[in-house]
Amino acid sequence: MPHVSSKNLRNFGRCICIITGASKGFGRAMAHGASRLMNPGSVLVLAARSGPLLHQLKEELQSSKEKDALTVHCVAVDLATEEGVNEVVRVVREEADRDFDHVLLVNNAASLGEMSKFSSFTNLEKLNAYMSLNVSSAVALTAGMLQAFPCRPGLLWIVVNVSSTFALNPAQKWGLYCTAKVARKMMFSILAEEEPSVKVLSYSPGPMDTDMQKDIKRQTGISYPLLQCWESVDRLLNLLLDNNFPSGAHLDFFEE
Ligand code: NDP
Repeated sequence: MPHVSSKNLRNFGRCICIITGASKGFGRAMAHGASRLMNPGSVLVLAARSGPLLHQLKEELQSSKEKDALTVHCVAVDLATEEGVNEVVRVVREEADRDFDHVLLVNNAASLGEMSKFSSFTNLEKLNAYMSLNVSSAVALTAGMLQAFPCRPGLLWIVVNVSSTFALNPAQKWGLYCTAKVARKMMFSILAEEEPSVKVLSYSPGPMDTDMQKDIKRQTGISYPLLQCWESVDRLLNLLLDNNFPSGAHLDFFEE
């Protein structure tokens, strides 16, 4: 199997880019940033629950491009469900016959969940629902995409796992979030080991001004100094274009 290239990229070429959690926050800013680097004939697949926000984003993205230069699919689904994940895979499969240079999958959707001490987590159904969105959906979606776009010479395949410093650092009452992020980090490290033709990056975007931070403040009372989403998106896009990170790496916004 050919090993993935580490050559610098000028842009993403003719690309199919799938972004989960694209309706708000970092995912929405990523859709704006990535679309600017995609050549005519590219496809962007945006997934989240809020259909109206996705459609508004689609209009924003297409208004800055020539007509037909970028196909945008909005997939309004709950990724915590099997039907939701399957629907994203179905939409992507319908585009699989086009001739792409690049597949870019950004596993971004996530939730903070309940911030509580270990001994409070007695409800198996709630635990499974949390892990379903925050771990299983990213794994099943990535597996579905790998089947839809088998690796071949000339196809640059990149998967981003949007991670967190909490994948590395345990903190009291952050049990659900930390557990999901560390599980994802491990699954994506294993993908990097298993698939030398797929470039895998776990990216920790830094504290950003989003709804998730509002939820953190609501549950802890703590506010952090926050980045704007576009600042972190710029950093991620530069990492992807430089393309010289080792596959499976876990990189943080603040890392040199
Ligand atoms: P937001 O809460 O602002 O956005 C989360 C996105 O995920 C939304 O688009 C939301 O859309 C979508 N989403 C949530 N639940 C579901 C679901 N069940 N099915 C489908 N989509 C869903 O989060 P951020 O933008 O802040 O976070 C983005 C990523 O960055 C996450 O992985 C987060 O863990 C990580 N991160 C964030 C930090 C921060 O400071 N904000 C710091 C470090 C990491 P909708 O509601 O429409 O479904």
